[in-house]
Amino acid sequence: MRLSNLRLSWNIFFVFLFVIVLCVVVVGEFALHSLHDSYLDAQKDGLRSIAQLARRDVGMTPADPALIVQQIAADAGARITIVLPDGRVVADSEENPARMENHANRSEVQAALRGRVEPAIRFSHTLNTDMLYLAVPLEQGGKVIAVVRAARPLSEIQQRETAVRLTLWRGCILGALIAALVSLYLAKRISRPIERIRRAAERYAAGDYSNRIYMTRPPEYVELAKSMNRMAREMDRRLHEITRQRNERDAILAGMREGLLAVDRDERIVLINPAAGEMLGITPADAVGHLVQETLRNPELQRFVTHALAAESNAADEILLHWPGGKMVLAASSPLKNGDGAHAGLLLVLNDVTRLRRLENLRREFVANVSHELRTPITSIKGFIETLRDGALSDPEAGPRFLEIIARQADRLNAIIEDLLALSRIEREAERHAIELFPCELKPLLEHTILQFAPQADAREMKLELECPEKLSVRANAQLLEQAVSNLIDNAIKYSQPGKSVRVAAEAGEHVSIRVIDEGVGIPAEHLPRIFERFYRVDPARSREAGGTGLGLAIVKHIVQAHGGRIDVESKPGIGSTFTIVI
Ligand code: ADP
Repeated sequence: MRLSNLRLSWNIFFVFLFVIVLCVVVVGEFALHSLHDSYLDAQKDGLRSIAQLARRDVGMTPADPALIVQQIAADAGARITIVLPDGRVVADSEENPARMENHANRSEVQAALRGRVEPAIRFSHTLNTDMLYLAVPLEQGGKVIAVVRAARPLSEIQQRETAVRLTLWRGCILGALIAALVSLYLAKRISRPIERIRRAAERYAAGDYSNRIYMTRPPEYVELAKSMNRMAREMDRRLHEITRQRNERDAILAGMREGLLAVDRDERIVLINPAAGEMLGITPADAVGHLVQETLRNPELQRFVTHALAAESNAADEILLHWPGGKMVLAASSPLKNGDGAHAGLLLVLNDVTRLRRLENLRREFVANVSHELRTPITSIKGFIETLRDGALSDPEAGPRFLEIIARQADRLNAIIEDLLALSRIEREAERHAIELFPCELKPLLEHTILQFAPQADAREMKLELECPEKLSVRANAQLLEQAVSNLIDNAIKYSQPGKSVRVAAEAGEHVSIRVIDEGVGIPAEHLPRIFERFYRVDPARSREAGGTGLGLAIVKHIVQAHGGRIDVESKPGIGSTFTIVI
């Protein structure tokens, strides 16, 4: 295991132990070394004194040198040897000189013979131990007659050194114990604040920036805690800022009516707003991160995205989405660039142009219808004028009849144009909310309307009846409401056989309803949904014959809508129809 992988307390412990052991060993070794030197010096000094004493005794006493060396050796606790200059041993305190070999080659003896004192350390085979030898010359009349040597075993020094080494080891063990205790204490002191900072950092990592670290010492940790707190505050601020910006962006995207779609270079959807989701029939949250090919099920749109990505330029196309409900969408794309200006994908804006296109179609259809409606009477007028020019004018019978037809066709043209103008005025005013509604009493209004149709009804021997409670009031534009009811009564008379009756009934409930009931030809069910369209006629010939423009019910519908109401119809062919205005 590497030291760096250990817990901090163990790290500190091992460092302490190492330092203490190193110190003890190095200092101990130095101490041992100098102790050894001083022991050795003391021994040398001692041996020199002994050797010198022995030399004096041997030089002054005529007694047997063997006895003298025995005595000195016993007193001094050292081995004494006397060697002749030729190396022969004369006396030795430990051994029989006769059995001893020639000592001429011993370095201490050679040094003494040269007049010098040089100690020597050697293994003694005689005593079977390391010995310190020191020899001095014995001179007589300026001549060396013998060498006195003193020697002591070194085991004593070695024993003392062993004792000191033992003490050193004890010191090491004690040091290790102290290191453990001190490191434990230090580790606690150092690691406790680190642990607190670590826990705080973990909470920051989990996104909780509310936590603050408070520390009073040591200064380094106080500074670190301050920096961490500053960082947390800054992160918190930035996070809030990012969240605010994201919420703003989401609100803008959600509020957009245009569909917005961001796609990266790999055709993966990065962003999609709710409007786009609705247009494409997909859930935005599920689409993000998925490929265009697997999410947008419209092959045309997929192709558009692929081409726009490859082109890296603006593109626009109208695309028909077959789901949901066959929408027409205008797709416009612009390339997306990242910070370095590199191509990062594309932004797709989708505009639902279904209504626009439908309105355009309606307008086109309407223009065609109007042209067709106008052309019929104009063709007829032109034809009769030609005939008159060609001589019919002078015909007393045909002339006035043709003129009568021309006048009728001109009336018809006028009626169509009047109705068209009325329709466009109502539409325009309704769009501008310019139609003013006032409370008006219904009974007088309906009576007045019916009265206008009296001649028409009389001519066809039809009865017009009114049922309306007194004081029934409705908020309406009287003129427009009268026009709507007029159109309904007009139709009821037109599409009934002579002798039938038409009933106008008004009643109050949750809403006010005005019914126009006839006993006329009725309308087949398949036509009912379309009769309020402009120029829609169930029986075009009959309508024209009766002087209809095909716009009457369209006008009624617009007037009722401008009042915030609705128009219903119930009809049975051969039995009659009931039109109900509900306001
Ligand atoms: P028109 O000028 O042709 O009457 P309208 O818009 O008023 O045009 O009516 C549209 C068509 O609805 C008429 O052509 C007619 O076929 C049918 N219609 C309207 N009112 C009645 C009714 N009361 N009875 C039978 N058919 C009717």
